[in-house]
This record gives sequence, C-alpha cells and structure tokens, in this order.
Amino acid sequence: MIELYEKGYIMIQYHALSLGLSIAALLLCVSDLIFTLMDKRTGKPQNRVYIAIMLLLSLNAGCGMATLLTEGIRPEAELARSVLEISRYIYFLTHTLLAPAFFYYISFVVGRSYNWGINFRNRKSMLSFVTQVLPDISVLVMEVIILLNPFLHWTWYYDENLVFHRAWGEFLIYIQAALWIVASFILTMRSWNILSKNRKNSILFCYFLAVLGLVVQLFDARIYAEVLMEAIGFTGVLMYVENEDDRRDVELDVYNRAAFVLDISSALKNKLSMRVLIVRDIHFERTENPVLLGKVDSSALGFQVAEYLGTKIPKYYIYALGHGIFALVLYDQPEESVRTIAQEIAKRFEQPWTVDGEDIYLTASVLIVDVPERAHDADDLLYIAECPIPETAVKPVMEGEDLGWIIRHAAVEEAVTRGLSEGSFEVYYQPTYHTDCSLYGAEALLRMKDRKLGTIYPDEFIPVSEQLGLIDEIDEFVLEQVCGLLATGVPQKQGVGHINVNLSVLECMKEGFADHIIEIVEGYGIEKHHISFEITESVAATDYRHLEEVIEKLKSAGFMFYIDDFGTGYSNISALFSLGADVIKIDKSVLWGAQTDSIGMVLLEGTMRMVKEMHKKTLAEGVETEEQIALLKRLGCDYLQGYYFSKPVSRSEFLEVIGAKATE
Ligand code: C2E
Ligand code: CA
Ligand code: CA
Repeated sequence: MIELYEKGYIMIQYHALSLGLSIAALLLCVSDLIFTLMDKRTGKPQNRVYIAIMLLLSLNAGCGMATLLTEGIRPEAELARSVLEISRYIYFLTHTLLAPAFFYYISFVVGRSYNWGINFRNRKSMLSFVTQVLPDISVLVMEVIILLNPFLHWTWYYDENLVFHRAWGEFLIYIQAALWIVASFILTMRSWNILSKNRKNSILFCYFLAVLGLVVQLFDARIYAEVLMEAIGFTGVLMYVENEDDRRDVELDVYNRAAFVLDISSALKNKLSMRVLIVRDIHFERTENPVLLGKVDSSALGFQVAEYLGTKIPKYYIYALGHGIFALVLYDQPEESVRTIAQEIAKRFEQPWTVDGEDIYLTASVLIVDVPERAHDADDLLYIAECPIPETAVKPVMEGEDLGWIIRHAAVEEAVTRGLSEGSFEVYYQPTYHTDCSLYGAEALLRMKDRKLGTIYPDEFIPVSEQLGLIDEIDEFVLEQVCGLLATGVPQKQGVGHINVNLSVLECMKEGFADHIIEIVEGYGIEKHHISFEITESVAATDYRHLEEVIEKLKSAGFMFYIDDFGTGYSNISALFSLGADVIKIDKSVLWGAQTDSIGMVLLEGTMRMVKEMHKKTLAEGVETEEQIALLKRLGCDYLQGYYFSKPVSRSEFLEVIGAKATE
C-alpha cells in the first residue's frame, strides 16, 4: 500500500514537472512568435521557416500539456481517450517535421538555399537526387506512417487501460531527426567562417539544447524536456540570427554593405551563380523648381528608390552599398529576365521622383554583372560598383564587354595614379635612320609595368593619363629621362642626332609650358637641338594660334618639331603646315596601305609629294621590310623608323643597338 502510494507520488511529481516544462515552452514559443511578428521579420523564406518552427514547437508544447492534463486526471470516459489520441497524433505529426525544418532553416541562414528547399530544375544527377530528394521523401513517408497510425499502430498506441506504448516507428522518428540534425550541423560547419560570432554561438547553443532535451527524453520519456530546450535554443536564434539589425540599412530599409559581402561570399562558397544588378551613380539631375536645389531630402529620395527597387525583386535581395549605389542580387534567373529588369529600372529613372510634392529627376546607370564569370568575389563587385566610369562610356544599362572595358579602364586608372610614385614607368627608345640606313635619331616611347596588371601599352595608359590630368607629370618624367641619357653624351657620340619626345597637346596649351620645358633642359646642360618634340596631327587641330606661339617659342630656343601620325586625321592641312614643323611623320597606316592596294599607293605618293612641296622633311614610321625601304627611297623619303631596324627597347638595350650600329 505504502509502496503504491510512493509510486503514485513520484508519478505526480513527474507530471507536475513535465506540465511546468510544457507551459514554459508554450509561453516562450508564443512570445518568440509575437516578437517576430512585431518586428515584421516575416518576408524572407528564412523568416517563414523560423515562424513555422515556432508554430510546430507551440503545437508540440500544447499537445504535451493536453496529454499531461488528461493523463493526470485519468477519467475512465471516452473523452479522455479522444483527447489523448488527438494530442499525441498532432504531437507526432508536427514533431517529425521539426528537424527537417531546422535543416532548411540553417540552409537559408548560410545562404545555401535561396528558394524553397525543393528546386527541381537543379536536380541534375542521380547523386543530387539521392542527397536532395530522398530526405524530403523520407519525411513524407514518416508523416504518412504517422497519419495511418490510428489503423496501423506502428508508432504508438494506448492500451485498454489508457497506458501509452511506443512502437518501432517512434525510434525511426528519432533516427530520422538525428540524421537531419547531423546534416544541419555539417552545413553549419561548412559555412563556419561566413557566420558572425554571435550567429555561430547561438546556433551552436541551439544544437546543444536540442540534443540535451532529446537525450533526457529518450532516457526518461516521462520528462517533457525536449520542447522547452528547443524553445530556449530558438529564442537565442531569434535574438542573434533572425535579428538582423547589424545587416540592415535602417534609413533605406534594405541590407547594408557588410551583409552584401557576407551574402555574396556565402553564395559563392555554396557554388551558386547569380547576376548582380548594380544601380550606381544615382544622383540629382534636375528639378522644375530651382528653389528646391540643395533642399532636397536625399534620404527620402534614397528611400523612394529603394522602395521602387523592392517592387522589382524581394527586398531581402537588395543592398545599399554606399551613397547612391544599390546592388540587387538575382539568383538562378534567366539572362533575359535580368536584362528586362535592368532596362525597366533604367527607364524608371527617366521619370521624376516625388518628394514633398515636387518632381525631382535623378540619373543612374545599371550594370549587369555575372558572378562568378565577370566578378569573382564580393571585392570585385564592390570595385565594379565604385570604380570611376569615364563619362563617354556611360550608358543607361551596361553589361558584358562594356563592363570588361570599364573594369579594365578603372584598373588602368588606378595603375597610372600610383605609377609615378611606384616607379612603374620606363622610357624605351626606338632608333630612327636615314634611307642609307645610317643612324639618324631616336624616339622616346613610354612603357608601363604595373605590379598588378603587368605591362601596359601607351595606347591604353596615355589617354587615361590625359583624362586624369597626369599627362604633364608623365611627359615631364620622359623628358627628364631623355635629358638624363643625353647628359651622358653617349647617344650623340654614336650618331644619334636627337631624341624625340612625344608631347600631349593638352599640355602644350598650358600657361608657361615652353618656359618650363626650356628650364628643365637647361638644367641638364643639354644643347637644345639634341631634343625634338612630336605632336600628333589630330590633336594639333584644336587651337592653332596658341599652338603656333608655343611652337615658335620652342623652335627659337633651338628645339626641332615633328608632326606625328600624319595622314590619319582630317585636320586643316594648310594650318598644319603653317605650324612650322621641321619633319612630318607619315603614319604607319599610310605606308602599310600603299602595299595593299593601288589607292593606298596613290595616297602615299600624294602625301610624300605634298610634304616635299611644303619644304618639310618626311619620316616614315612602321618600316618592317626591305621592300618598304626600297619603296620609300624611291619616293624620296628622308628618314625611317620601324621594327625592321629595331623595336622600342630599354635604355641599356638601346645603347647596345646604337653602339653596334655605330661601329659597323
Ligand atoms: P607614336 O608616337 O605614333 O609611336 C609610334 C608607335 O608605333 C609606337 O607604339 C611604336 O612602338 C610603334 N612602332 C614603331 N615602329 C613600328 C613598326 O615597324 N611596326 C609596328 N607594328 N609598330 C611600330 P607605342 O610605343 O605603343 O606608342 C603608341 C603611342 O603612344 C605613340 O604613338 C604615342 O602617341 C603615345 N606615346 C608613347 N610614349 C609617349 C610619351 O612619352 N608621351 C606621350 N604624350 N605619348 C606617348
Ligand atoms: Ca610619336
Ligand atoms: Ca606615329
């Protein structure tokens, strides 16, 4: 009698304990749900899985309570049996879904899934079928077994005394849950370094509690610890994973730059490919009301743009990267639809935005970047989002080749900017010859060896330097190098009459340019006729009068003058000849053209004759063969330059080339 009483007493204690645990679990789950809804964290698939998990847990806790209360009372009525059967039924149905839901939750958190777990288009091989579809099917099978339990009793049953019995199916549920949890754990570990510290810790803690609860309940089924443990774990997850304050741009209500870097990194780690639309250079263009200028609330404008972008793709794929720059990440979308979105966005910017009832026009460019083909990582993307785009290259929508060009251009800009201080520039020399092949002079040609980009040719870096306004310094560097070489006296001794330095016309036009040049050359104590300057025909066409003065000044100081690339532009030829150049350099295309057809030959002959009649000397560039030399001799050309004699070479090689020639 006493024994029985004691047994009953212990039973009652178990009941009270489990009931308390279940009530606590229910309260916790409901509060977590309320917090989630209050904060409107419901948009992303990840959020929805979280809500689903909390709902499942609440149901579990509720069913646990119902079971305990009914078991505690144990009336012999039919009602008790029904309550018990139903609450167990719902409990098992929902509990079985928890571990898979957790797995999907983790896969969203680490950026492995961007859509719902089942994505049939990506099921390519048998292996992916096994790893991706089978687990889902096994959950379905489990659910069906539970659904049929009232008839089969494979999972549990109540005997005629209303005593609960487990059947083999319940162990299957445990095994399956364990497998899902191990899989989520592996997933977490594989993405370890893309999770922030708090996120990692809260997920780990959640695992720990879930396993602890499971072990306790497996060990003694009378203690309903599992649900509460999981509820506590998910409260931590709510605080650190669902809470995205550190990822949010509060003002614009999209994600921030840090989130962008993390999300792109995790997507790439998971081998996802995507297209990123970068909407950049968003800036004020005009308004009908000039009084507004400077008073526009730029954050309200930014918010409007963000809101608009949110109508194109879900907001959780939109990131604010900086002032006037947004990135939209599109996973697994066909090229055409991405392009359509880009064009729609570009079109939207033709319409005004309204702030405080005023129309404001903004401009923007949209870049379509394929990842990882065009940009290999988040850094590349940020670079593309921020690198300067030359005004001439700007289009409303840019992609593919355009982008390649912009990226290269920006990289060259960077290289040029650091080039002078890093010593990337080196002056090469290409000798020039008389038609009898004796040495005449040389041309200084700049080369650039950048530590990142390798060798860059002047055709690429000279225009960039001009845009950056660095050409003065660069040409001055060349002049100093040439002066340094001439100051040794060696080239002159070997028969190099003078060295030509290319000038940017932009530079010649500057105030005090001629005096500055003269000062530099005199600083080296070099006779001025040892240096000549070349300006190109096409640029010479800008402001002849001023150019004429500059050239006159330099010529009277003793320098010689060359017109470069003659025959390529459509300049005012009479004005060009009045510039007082000593030598006209016939562009290599004119020489090469003469060999391809008869019109080319007529052009070359005509050009040579015209220059002669103007009493100027001619120098032919691009001489590569003996035939060309014979032809040029026949036409009465004065000087030759080209690969036939030598390519542009470094200073030391140049000294060799002229030394060898001179002693021949
Ligand atoms: P440019 O002044 O017309 O220079 C002649 C170009 O033709 C050089 O190219 C030279 O390497 C190339 N060349 C010479 N002979 C031959 C030949 O027989 N066959 C072929 N295929 N090519 C030949 P580079 O060095 O790449 O220079 C390109 C342009 O960059 C120059 O055209 C010049 O306009 C500009 N540049 C080069 N160095 C400087 C500089 O120091 N300052 C400025 N402002 N411009 C420069
Ligand atoms: Ca030249
Ligand atoms: Ca030339």
